[in-house]
Amino acid sequence: MDAKVGKKLGLKERYALMTRDLGWDTTYQPMDKVYPYDKYEGIRIHDWDKWEDPFRLTMDAYWKYQAEKEKKLYAIIDAYAQNNGHLNVTDARYLNTLKLFVTGVTPLEYMAHRGFAHVGRQMRGGGPRVACLMQSLDEIRHIQTQLHSISNYNKYYNGLHNPFHMVERVWYLSVPRSFFDDAFTAGPFEFMVCVGFSFEYVLTNLLFVPFVSGAAYNGDMGTMSFGFSAQSDEARHMTLGLECIKFMLEQDPANVPIVQRWIDKWTWRGMRVLMLVGMMMDYMLPKRVMSWKEAWEIYFEQNGGALFKDLARYGIRPPKCAEQALIDKEHITHQAWAALYNYGAAAAFHTWVPTPDEMDWLSAKYPNSFDKYYRPRLEFWREQAAQGKRFYTNTLPLLCQVCQVPMFFTEPDDPTKICYRHSEYRGDQFHTCSDHCKAIFDNEPEKYIQAWLPTHQVYQGHCFPEGADPGAPGFDPLTEVLKYYELGWGRDNLDFEGSEDQRNFAAWRNTAKRNG
Ligand code: FE
Ligand code: ZN
Repeated sequence: MDAKVGKKLGLKERYALMTRDLGWDTTYQPMDKVYPYDKYEGIRIHDWDKWEDPFRLTMDAYWKYQAEKEKKLYAIIDAYAQNNGHLNVTDARYLNTLKLFVTGVTPLEYMAHRGFAHVGRQMRGGGPRVACLMQSLDEIRHIQTQLHSISNYNKYYNGLHNPFHMVERVWYLSVPRSFFDDAFTAGPFEFMVCVGFSFEYVLTNLLFVPFVSGAAYNGDMGTMSFGFSAQSDEARHMTLGLECIKFMLEQDPANVPIVQRWIDKWTWRGMRVLMLVGMMMDYMLPKRVMSWKEAWEIYFEQNGGALFKDLARYGIRPPKCAEQALIDKEHITHQAWAALYNYGAAAAFHTWVPTPDEMDWLSAKYPNSFDKYYRPRLEFWREQAAQGKRFYTNTLPLLCQVCQVPMFFTEPDDPTKICYRHSEYRGDQFHTCSDHCKAIFDNEPEKYIQAWLPTHQVYQGHCFPEGADPGAPGFDPLTEVLKYYELGWGRDNLDFEGSEDQRNFAAWRNTAKRNG
C-alpha cells in the first residue's frame, strides 16, 4: 500500500517551526515580568512576528559550517607556528599592532558574546532571540580564535601576556572597553543598534579589512586567517543589525527619533574607538595597505553613504557627526600617535618616530595636514631623542567623560587648538572632547558620571598595587601604576629602538637563515 506523504516543508516554514514555534507566551507570570527590559527604552513593538529572519540558520547547520571553517583555520595556525612564521613578519615593529589588537579588541569579542547572550534573553520575540544566540556563539568563537592565533607570539614577544587584566585598567584601553561597557549597560534595542548596526555595519569593515590586509601585507598568516574566519561571520552580523533597525522603524513611527539618536551616538563612539585602528594603519604597520583617510573614504563615506540613502525612506538621516568626520580624517591618527609616543612610558607596546620615508608616505597621503601640522613635531622629537632627550610627558591627561580618550583632539575649525567642552551636572564639572561626546553626556548624565576614568583614578590613588604606600619616602607613582597594570618597566613599555623585542627578533631571524 502506498504511504501518503505530505508536501515537504519549505525552508521558511521549517525554520519557523524550529525557532519561533519553540517560543511561547507565559501564563503563570505576566510577559512583562518575564521580559522586563524590552519596553523601557521606549521602543514600541506591535507584532514580533514581523521580524524577518535575514538568514535561516539552524543549529546543526551552524556547527557544521563553523567546524569546517575552524578546522582550516587551526591547520594554518599550526603550520605557521611550527614553521616559526613569526620570523617572517616584515619587521618587529609590526608586533606592536598585535599587542594593541589583543588588549584592545579581543576582550571586546568576549563582551560582545556576553552582551548578545544577555540581550537574546531580553527580547520577547523568537526571531531576534535566535539571531542573538547565533551571534553570541560567533563572538565567543572570535575571541577563542584570536587568542589562539596570537598566543603563538606571546611565547616570544613582550606585552601580550595579560590582555584581560590590562583592558580593565590601562588608560588607552579604556577607550574600547568603555564603548562596550556603555553598550552592555544599555537596553536590548540600544545594544543591537550599537553592536549590530554602528559597530558591525558601519565600522567593522574599517577594523577587519584594513587590519587583516595589514597582517597579510606584513607576513602574518596566523592573524590573517582568523581575520578572514571572523569576517565571514560579519556579513551575518551586519544583516542582523540592519534587520533590527528596519524592524523598529517599521513597527512604529514613534521609534524613529529614538533610533536616530542611537545612530548618532554610536557612530560617533565607534569613530573614537577606530582612531586606534587608524593609528595602526598610518603609523604601526611597517608595510602599509592604505591610509586611514583612504579607508575612511571607501568604507564610511561611500559604503555608509549608500546605506543612509536606503534608510532615508524611514525618515533616518546620516549621523550628525559625519560632517566632523570629514575634517577629522585628516588629523586624528597623527594626534593619537603623538599621544601614545608622549605617554609611551605607560603603554604596553613600543612607540617610535616614523622613518624619513615613512614621513614622506604620510605627506603624500595627507597633503592637507601632515607637513603643516605634524611633521615638524615628529622631526623635533627625533632630534631630541638623538641628543639623548627623548620626550615623555610626566603628567597624566584629562580624559573625556564619554569616549575616555585623553583631551588631545583639536577644534574642528582649528587644528592647533585642543577641543574642550564642558557640562555641569548637580554642581560638578564634567569635560568632554567634542560637541558629539558632550551631546551624549548631556542626554544621559546619570550614566556617564559613573565612568571609571583611568588617569583620574590614578590621581585619586586607586591604581597602585595593594600595600603600596604613597607616603613612603622615594615612592614613585609611575613604577607603582605599572605594577598595578602588570606591565614590565623597560620590557613592555618605552621605545621600540633598543627593546628586547627588537634585539630578539633580529637575533632569531639571523639564526633562522644560518646553520647551527
Ligand atoms: Fe566578533
Ligand atoms: Zn569624547
